[in-house]
Amino acid sequence: MKIAVLTSGGDAPGMNAAIRAVVRTGQVYGHEVFGVKNGYKGLVDGEFIALTHQSVSGMLSRGGTFLGTSRLPEFKEEKVRQIAVDNLKKFDIDALVTIGGDGTYHGAMELNKMGIKTIGLPGTIDNDIAGTDFTIGFATAVETIVDAIDKLRDTSNSHQRVSIIEVMGRRSGDLAVFAGICGGAEFIITPENPVDKNHMMEEIRKYKNEGRRHAVVVITEKLFDVHALAKEISETSGFSSRATVLGYIQRGGSPCPDDRILGSLGSYALNGK
Ligand code: ADP
Repeated sequence: MKIAVLTSGGDAPGMNAAIRAVVRTGQVYGHEVFGVKNGYKGLVDGEFIALTHQSVSGMLSRGGTFLGTSRLPEFKEEKVRQIAVDNLKKFDIDALVTIGGDGTYHGAMELNKMGIKTIGLPGTIDNDIAGTDFTIGFATAVETIVDAIDKLRDTSNSHQRVSIIEVMGRRSGDLAVFAGICGGAEFIITPENPVDKNHMMEEIRKYKNEGRRHAVVVITEKLFDVHALAKEISETSGFSSRATVLGYIQRGGSPCPDDRILGSLGSYALNGK
């Protein structure tokens, strides 16, 4: 068979390990494997490259995705997807492996409805894909966030501060929960567990009265204006407060062992076991 593989949407550590697993397992089964550059955009632009054993050498430890990724909102339009389907046919591709998050799965499902055999691998730091306990990239992102919390706690303690740390996750609070627990956060605020702000402010004032030196609050993105929250805490609690938006730093870095293992399980896409 001729199999194509692509990475799409937000990049995640371990995507390269997953591509490598698809390529090397494909070879074992005698398939030809092609990489598609830059996600669904490359499908539409016809950017296919042959991948060999050598192409994925050294990829297990590399963060990001060497195939590149993109967001292509137009892929929701059938006429745009039809160009991708025509290109897959032109290159005689029998099946497509997509590595990405929720949006990527939706795209793959739509391609499937148009007659393309697709298999999805869950590559996203957000841990928001059903049918798997963990997604490829989540464990590394948790490690990065915990490292940041540990560092912020040091300075927060020195300055008697409340440190607010905004993390990624979109509609999923898993990054905040896992990293918040590991970092000993006083408050973890997520879409699934939105803490009442008045209650939190009251607790923080209580900490001050008890003589505590600091507190850490971890919040999933898009729930609060974290800088405004820091200002309010500074003005009303007796603590000074600062907000740190961790941003894209959470997506980078060499995948940790758990993500290398999960990425390597990309071989299941081809051996069906
Ligand atoms: P992620 O895969 O990380 O969730 P996105 O939500 O940006 O990232 O989705 C990646 C890409 O998948 C989008 O840019 C778009 O090309 C495609 N996609 C998302 N939703 C759909 C959909 N409903 N139909 C077709 N393609 C989609």
